[in-house]
Amino acid sequence: DAKSRGRGRVRVFSAELRDHPGDDLATEVALQAALSRSELVLHYQPVIDLWTGRVVGVEALVRWQHPERGLLPPRHFIPTAELSGLIVPLGRWALDRACRDAAAMTGPAAGLDVAVNLSARQLTHPDVVRHVRDALESSGLDPRRLMLEVTESAVLEDDEVAAVALDTLSALGVRIAIDDFGTGYSSLLYLRRYPIDALKLDRAFVSGLTTSPDDEAICASVVSLAHAVGATSIAEGVETVGEYAALRGYGCQQAQGFLWSPAVPIEELAEVVVACHRVPRPARTRPHLPH
Ligand code: C2E
Ligand code: MG
Ligand code: MG
Ligand code: MG
Repeated sequence: DAKSRGRGRVRVFSAELRDHPGDDLATEVALQAALSRSELVLHYQPVIDLWTGRVVGVEALVRWQHPERGLLPPRHFIPTAELSGLIVPLGRWALDRACRDAAAMTGPAAGLDVAVNLSARQLTHPDVVRHVRDALESSGLDPRRLMLEVTESAVLEDDEVAAVALDTLSALGVRIAIDDFGTGYSSLLYLRRYPIDALKLDRAFVSGLTTSPDDEAICASVVSLAHAVGATSIAEGVETVGEYAALRGYGCQQAQGFLWSPAVPIEELAEVVVACHRVPRPARTRPHLPH
């Protein structure tokens, strides 16, 4: 009967997963199971205020605790999740988990803001506003502590639907960041069209900061552009003191990166926050950009 045929198919897929771990259909089926078996976990990367050197928030980054393959980073399964539509339940799970974790943070991590990545499929999903509102209500998290990160391509893909969703989310008090800024279809129109609270400068530019004059100019320009439109500038992937110093000199407001910490399990967060506070602040090496 159909039921036993169904079981047979599942066996075929798991055999495929063993033989071809990257196979999309196998990954999709395994990911679906992983969601229901709670094999997904969120790790949190501290976000630092570059002026004070204090941790002001965390970004939630999903990992798959795979029973055989160990801890998998998002590049192993997010693309499949996006293509299959599984990103919607996966993203909703991440949103719920992150809001509950943030509301429960104590000690040195108490009160930190939390940023959650939202894919294009989620942003344009008809229930996105309800999902965010539910996550806030069931966790009791102050909406002002939640930031949603969307990419340039996500806002441009279905711009009418995205605009309505972003406006509604913004009205809830949630903040909106453009992630990987500068790597997408950089139409600056959306800066005045959408309620943007933060620009996240992509690591691609940050890592060229002390070696490439072009990257220096791009970083400085994005920081001043953010300032001009009243958005917070946040640098991604800061790994060296030289990058920290240059960003501080440009007046960049916040940053995250291995210089302070990678994303860590929630149990380690309090300890990591304390360690971040011990990272010395470099002198500003360049004049502050005019405001
Ligand atoms: P992203 O949102 O741009 O996240 C930043 C990525 O840079 C993270 O990779 C982080 O671990 C990494 N990173 C941070 N600091 C440094 C550094 O100093 N050096 C280097 N080399 N890397 C650094 P990760 O965790 O592998 O995530 C990759 C991407 O997967 C994220 O990029 C985001 O687009 C996506 N992603 C992660 N979690 C979720 C989620 O819950 N939902 C959705 N839709 N996407 C997610
Ligand atoms: Mg992000
Ligand atoms: Mg990013
Ligand atoms: Mg990035």
